[in-house]
Amino acid sequence: MDLGIRGRKALVCAASRGLGRGCAEALAAEGVNLVINARGREALTRTAWEIAERHEVTVEPVAADITTDEGRAAVLGALGGQADILVTNAGGPPPGRWTDWGRDDFIRAIDANMLSAIALMQALVPGMMDRGWGRVVNITSQSVRSPIAELGLSNTARAGLTGFVAGMSRQVADRGVCVNNLLPGIHDTDRAAALDAGAAERGGITRDEARARRQAAIPTRSYGRAEDFGAACAFLCSQQARFIVGQNLLLDGGALNVAV
Ligand code: NAP
Repeated sequence: MDLGIRGRKALVCAASRGLGRGCAEALAAEGVNLVINARGREALTRTAWEIAERHEVTVEPVAADITTDEGRAAVLGALGGQADILVTNAGGPPPGRWTDWGRDDFIRAIDANMLSAIALMQALVPGMMDRGWGRVVNITSQSVRSPIAELGLSNTARAGLTGFVAGMSRQVADRGVCVNNLLPGIHDTDRAAALDAGAAERGGITRDEARARRQAAIPTRSYGRAEDFGAACAFLCSQQARFIVGQNLLLDGGALNVAV
């Protein structure tokens, strides 16, 4: 299926590897030109080069921390202040117990996983509305549907972003802008490996055992792949997705048994 977005321009945040990279690859495969971002310059530059070469699109890397005002200003500068497609993403906060976290920890998590995405939408969506077309995909988490006890910082920040999107997506849809959230279950990325390691340490088991147990809890009996995630993201950014607004799409291999 041709997604009808060839020649569009997208910003994909936190995209040197993992789910962000999966989204960048899938958009590039549809002929979308990209600005991609991550903090580590070397890996980001390599990723940009590989994607550009494979899909014959332009890919501009901007090494910056997307959770800071300066980082977002650098990325927006590279875009010339406008994009047709925005994919927000940032690293997830660390796990812990509810008593572990103080005000600074909450502010960091809320900055990274809520306010950064909101600031980018506020910067780029008005231009999309003026031009009558836009797509926004926020990478959140399955924990929005079923909060994970030890990811309290993530649960808190992402619940805030989800509430914001539920309102603003309905306020921009009449101008051709579709805003949705993609909720990853467990995908085979560095983040998943770190969570496997944490589960292994807490349970006194090996990482392989921790991974096998987590996989056994997923009906597909496997972790998702960044390519699977990217394909869903590209569809939400497609022409055909014009009637999908304000949704929270769970990609988890059926792990959460939710009826709707
Ligand atoms: P990942 O494999 O660790 O990749 C994270 C990417 O984000 C890297 O490119 C990293 O590059 C970049 N990044 C991190 N912090 C950044 C920042 N402050 N500014 C700019 N770039 C930044 O993680 P992932 O698995 O793709 O996860 C992406 C998001 O989905 C996270 O928020 C995670 O919590 C969430 N999630 C993941 C899963 C899963 O199973 N994978 C499940 C649920 C939710 P640099 O380090 O060089 O900046």
